[in-house]
Amino acid sequence: MAKTFKNFIAGEWVAPSTGTYFDNRNPANTSDLIGRFPDSDRQDVDAAVRSARQGFVLWSRTPAPVRGDVLRRVGDLLVERKEAIAAAMTREMGKVLAETRGDVQEGIDTAYYAATEGRRLFGQVVPSELRSKWAMSYRRPIGVVGLITPFNFPLAIPTWKMFPALLCGNSVIIKPSEDVPHTVHILVEILLEAGLPAEVIQLVHGRGETVGKSLVEHPGVPVISFTGSTETGALIGETCGRMHKRLSLEMGGKNAMIVMDDADLDLALEGVLWGAFGTTGQRCTATSRLVLHRKIHDRFLNRLADAADALRLGDGSGEKTDVGPLIHEASRNKVEQYVEIGQDEGAELVTGGKVPGGERLKQGWFYRPTVFAGVKPKTRLEQEEIFGPVLSVIKVGSFEEAVRVNNDVRYGLSSSIYTGNVDQAFRAMQELDNGITYVNAPTIGAEAHLPFGGVKATGNGHREGGWEVYEFYSETKVCYVDYSGKLQRAQMDAYEV
Ligand code: NAD
Repeated sequence: MAKTFKNFIAGEWVAPSTGTYFDNRNPANTSDLIGRFPDSDRQDVDAAVRSARQGFVLWSRTPAPVRGDVLRRVGDLLVERKEAIAAAMTREMGKVLAETRGDVQEGIDTAYYAATEGRRLFGQVVPSELRSKWAMSYRRPIGVVGLITPFNFPLAIPTWKMFPALLCGNSVIIKPSEDVPHTVHILVEILLEAGLPAEVIQLVHGRGETVGKSLVEHPGVPVISFTGSTETGALIGETCGRMHKRLSLEMGGKNAMIVMDDADLDLALEGVLWGAFGTTGQRCTATSRLVLHRKIHDRFLNRLADAADALRLGDGSGEKTDVGPLIHEASRNKVEQYVEIGQDEGAELVTGGKVPGGERLKQGWFYRPTVFAGVKPKTRLEQEEIFGPVLSVIKVGSFEEAVRVNNDVRYGLSSSIYTGNVDQAFRAMQELDNGITYVNAPTIGAEAHLPFGGVKATGNGHREGGWEVYEFYSETKVCYVDYSGKLQRAQMDAYEV
């Protein structure tokens, strides 16, 4: 009998006000029911906001180094339980164990970074233009922060948002993706065990159109951080704009890897397999387009087709699995639809393009790694985010053309170039219009201590990770102290010598 999970609201594990639940199933084997999770609604969000406001009063007055110390303990617990969390994550999300271990490691890195930030959170002291006057800025917490997260990084993305938000002194309400609710349940248990005061964290499970929407529309939540599709982000942006909320959006991608004629082709082959088919192509940074210089095009494509064909599909917990399932049926349907679109547009299906056979793989949402060649710029296959194991190969004749192809999409998350030419590498870093560019490495993979995010329809100018995210979760306040004992007027009395 599968377990029934609860929300965490006002310091207690509670059933949803609706009394209804949804199933969370293993995407590699849909007969494996992981648990039933609350199908909550607006009332649950209201209760969470009321409590989070209390939590904010307490937590915002807790010294930042003490807040950091709680996050250090969270990091320690994540280290201790890394293997068990990774196994639970593979079961609900599908990606292979090596990747879910990496997902937990990203949470650990983010926790330890946050812990040390508690002793920084720098403000500035600058010289005043007036005599006997002190001028400075410092960072204050903002209030209740609403976090809405996607399915593909069940632990890492919640921690990217939650840890800096908490370190800055905010209280947090999280609505995880309904596809991976179990991992965040585990994370909240760890936060509580590490000593986070109960009302500082609230967990409300449920659907985006109900719980997510209620959180975004709630006047008691001044900050929203969202990662997910560009379509959902646009809806959230409209509401937040109208309500003057602070909003961070991390959204879709259509990332390209460029392989020039002087590249190390062995390295590039390894890179594109990982970039395109790691996480079954379900990464915002996934390599979705491969831009090949015409001089190496045919040679590289042949090797790529064989290597993609040899990838082993299976349950992510299996030692020999290279590629896990897609997250759910709708996702696989979308992939199938794009394979049809590609063929209709005249692209050549080189390998894949089908649901695999075999009893074992029929139990989950598997799809063969797929490569299309002869993909033309501006076609739907080349422009739209698929979020699955489908790679489009585009042939180009020059570096300039490769840059044009890379830039000519509405997204701008990551890009990559394989080249042995240092001048070209530096030009690429300047000219590729993305938030991240990799040289001689695929489009995926981020380090927790550097800012992460994209331009154009991928983001709205904010970044996750690194130091920049601390600016998002805190408000700058400026203070002047005039100890001259007389009225001094800025800009007017300043320049008397
Ligand atoms: P999604 O947009 O379907 O859902 C994301 C979250 O938003 C979920 O928790 C969902 O319940 C919620 N949601 C849905 N409708 C909502 C609404 N109307 N109001 C408020 N919340 C709502 O995305 P997904 O399928 O979970 O994730 C895949 C997408 O996420 C891809 O487009 C991918 O590129 C993107 N992504 C981006 C990044 C990044 O950093 N740029 C990282 C990971 C994933």
